[in-house]
Amino acid sequence: MEVFTNREECARFLASAKAPGKTVGFVPTMGALHEGHLSLIGKARAENEIVAVSIYVNPTQFNNPADLEKYPRTPEADLEKLRRAGCDVVFAPTDDQMYPDGKKTLNLDLNGLDKEMEGKSRPGHFEGVITIVDALFRTIRPDNAYFGEKDFQQLAIIRYMAARLHPDIRIHGCPIFRQTDGLAMSSRNARLNPRQRQAAPLIYRTLKQAKALWGTQPIGEIIKFAVQNINADTELEVEYLVVADGQTMKPVASDDRIDPSKDYYAFAVVCAADVRLIDNIKLNR
Ligand code: AMP
Repeated sequence: MEVFTNREECARFLASAKAPGKTVGFVPTMGALHEGHLSLIGKARAENEIVAVSIYVNPTQFNNPADLEKYPRTPEADLEKLRRAGCDVVFAPTDDQMYPDGKKTLNLDLNGLDKEMEGKSRPGHFEGVITIVDALFRTIRPDNAYFGEKDFQQLAIIRYMAARLHPDIRIHGCPIFRQTDGLAMSSRNARLNPRQRQAAPLIYRTLKQAKALWGTQPIGEIIKFAVQNINADTELEVEYLVVADGQTMKPVASDDRIDPSKDYYAFAVVCAADVRLIDNIKLNR
């Protein structure tokens, strides 16, 4: 396994490694790797000759400096997991490699995909995400790139960005990998105290109940039930819980017409003190 911190060296190595017609599968991460990340890496391993993983905690996608500072970092353990997962190339750059001209971000119209949910809650977040993913794509030049459906809105935005700026890269969405109690795996779970950790599976349990209610009650009532159910646990507080069109990311209200040909999702962010937990479920199939 080759580990690079320098952008040009990494790009040069990959360009020559893939020259004989090999495909590169790429998984961008912020490290503190868990089985969710490893499921993406496993898919990349199965579908490509060369697997590249980046580890970079991207400052421009954090709108809250405390969240950036407290983000878990486990570089040694990450490298060990990547070695065992059969990763070929690790790119773990420093800030000055990724932002040599200061923290300038990419300005791309995202057709409204960035306006709701995470876009509203975290101003500037998606601008930071597309900036870094574009820069990583230009360094790694993958054939295939793998992203988790846990960050569903991010996946939609990256598909949109890649179609415009990197049409040769195939974007793959991968299902949410969960703990056995249903909690979506996340690097941030490491920051939960035992009481919060015990409470957190209520998020997915409630999303499943909301799915069971789909079509039996107005959307507003389903949302009200889900929010109350989660907030009834004193460890948890819903930041937002929205039913939205899985294509446009536009929230759906009770009196909107439901189009059976579309996919509708419940998207939730729930805080356990200052730890933000994100999850979603497809409601109508
Ligand atoms: P992160 O390190 O949190 O930026 O995540 C890196 C990639 O892994 C993103 O595409 C995430 O959506 C994906 N990911 C994180 N957690 C999970 C999970 N539990 N299941 C599937 N994909 C995940």
